[in-house]
Amino acid sequence: MASKGKLAKLRKFFRASNKRYTVEREHMLDILDELKGQRYSIVKLYKLARKRGMIHAASTLYRNIFMFIDAGFISEVHLTNGKTEYESNTGQNTFMLCIGCSEVKKIRPPKEFKEMQTELCQKHGLDMISYNHQIKGYCSKCSRRIQEEPIEE
Ligand SMILES: [Zn+2]
Repeated sequence: MASKGKLAKLRKFFRASNKRYTVEREHMLDILDELKGQRYSIVKLYKLARKRGMIHAASTLYRNIFMFIDAGFISEVHLTNGKTEYESNTGQNTFMLCIGCSEVKKIRPPKEFKEMQTELCQKHGLDMISYNHQIKGYCSKCSRRIQEEPIEE
């Protein structure tokens, strides 16, 4: 059973976006909790939700996943191979992705970074629910490999 805080957050989201609050949507929070600490595909999420009897049609999940992303319960990670993976969390994430080997690292940004963000939101009147930063580049292994390999013409 999802915590009271999470349920309140979900209800607030549905109220604010004029969407219908359903028990099925509430139960999705339990599935997301079950997957905590892993990165998963939408297929894996669907299989688990179906196994638990919470969702029957895959289309329902495809139609609704964005709500959980917007509400800050899921983060999307856009991998460099064009695929998207998901992670259950508080929706406050900074990822570093290597475009050479597709390695994904989740980092904890410095306190100043968070403060700056909060300040920006206050300045622009946004009540922040979630954030998802993705920084792309080459990891040290790939940088080394690129430098060592001769470039063919
Ligand atoms: Zn790399």
